[in-house]
Amino acid sequence: MYDKLIFEISKSGRIGYSFPKTTIEEKAFLDEKYLRKTSPLLPEVTELDVVRHYTNLSKKNYGVDEGFYPLGSCTMKYNPKINEEVASLPGFTGLHPLQPAETAQGALEIYYETSKMLSLLTGMAEFSFSPFAGAHGEATGLMIMKEYFLRKGDYKRNKVIVPDSAHGTNPASASVCGFEIIEVESTPEGIVDPKKLKEVLNDEVAGMMLTNPNTLGIFEKDILEISRLLRENGSLLYYDGANLNALLGLSRPGDMGFDIMHINLHKTFSTPHGGGGPGSGPVGVVEKLVPYLPNPRIQKVGTKFELREYESSIGRVSGFYGNFLVVVKAYAYLLSLGKENVKNVAYLSVLNANYIKEKLKDDYKLPITGPCMHEVVFDGLRSGKATTLEVAKRLLDYGYHPPTIYFPLLFSQSLMIEPTEVESKETLDGFIEVMKKIAREAEEAPELLKEAPHTTVVTRLDEVKAARSPIIKYRDLK
Ligand SMILES: *Cc1c(COP(=O)(O)O)cnc(C)c1O
Repeated sequence: MYDKLIFEISKSGRIGYSFPKTTIEEKAFLDEKYLRKTSPLLPEVTELDVVRHYTNLSKKNYGVDEGFYPLGSCTMKYNPKINEEVASLPGFTGLHPLQPAETAQGALEIYYETSKMLSLLTGMAEFSFSPFAGAHGEATGLMIMKEYFLRKGDYKRNKVIVPDSAHGTNPASASVCGFEIIEVESTPEGIVDPKKLKEVLNDEVAGMMLTNPNTLGIFEKDILEISRLLRENGSLLYYDGANLNALLGLSRPGDMGFDIMHINLHKTFSTPHGGGGPGSGPVGVVEKLVPYLPNPRIQKVGTKFELREYESSIGRVSGFYGNFLVVVKAYAYLLSLGKENVKNVAYLSVLNANYIKEKLKDDYKLPITGPCMHEVVFDGLRSGKATTLEVAKRLLDYGYHPPTIYFPLLFSQSLMIEPTEVESKETLDGFIEVMKKIAREAEEAPELLKEAPHTTVVTRLDEVKAARSPIIKYRDLK
């Protein structure tokens, strides 16, 4: 019975909750045309039915609260529960976006102070919290880039350089903003080659987008040379901050020569990523680009905070001012870490990834040797006896969420592991042991991998069909 939809266990007349009798006559305040003519299609179930339905559904899912979740790039970083609690205080959740700024001074102060802290950590002059996600931040940053050249009367700059290791959102955002993409090939070490970069630079290049450490988990060691080349070319450098946790408190994009950046608060700063919850992709810029930041901007005037609109701005990129509660969590997290502890996020995430790399490199192909940053990319099993997909499916049997697979696209069997900073040595050892066991199984009993997973509610799914033609309405099932 627990595999049934809640509509299928519905029995006419069953009640889970009784509303108090209303004293208001519905017709008193609603126009006839707004009143529904038929009852809504709601399941009729008891309280027990509802509780069991959702509890059983939750058990079919997997989350960081259950176990290790080494998904690379998308990054289930540490999301302390205390920050959720802070963000759920009624003073924050009860705010209305249309209430006058004088009555929301505390909220504006949090935005202002968080911007100041992010500036300290990144070397940017000011942040805007309008964008809702990383990709939205990228688009916003590129609009700022475009505006900068248009205002200068430099109309030729319509190209953006993106390395071949970039996250797919980078070229997509540049394209959405009307730029033509130039791809630069990585070196065998997985980083940008300044010589190759030089070849594509000319007066049509508006800028370059770069993630550092990049999506292979490798630090771009030539970053100062890269930023010098772009500066000399009159171009701007955009920092995709999705991997900022690897550098937190240790080095700053601003000092590396970046001009514009976004941070995924829902990756690095205490909001779970994935699952479709609210995100926040604040965009920071260096001083000369501040006038172009989206409207509104928060300004401190004396001891008061104001939301101001500027004529030089690229305009609004979202309603109101972004996802406030995500910013509250980032603020609480930064305050609880403090200036000294913030560095441990970087140290521990790099340590954990390197530990896994060293322990697994005899069983899994390591295309790029040497130290990695916060994540490590393998290119499938050394033995070649099973595919990366099969390894990932077998991991489900052992109760682990698989790492990111088949990304980055540079290798045919990519297996990208990001352990995150707070996992204990015991947890890492448990995962390593299972990964080694799967490598042995691939040689001794490959059919175990071919047919995995064996223990989950559903086994191999048609993932393309699930993504292309999902059935998400009860009615569609009939
Ligand atoms: C996650 C990610 C993005 C996109 O961020 P969203 O918040 O998911 O839109 C961009 N670049 C990199 C490297 C990422 O890991």
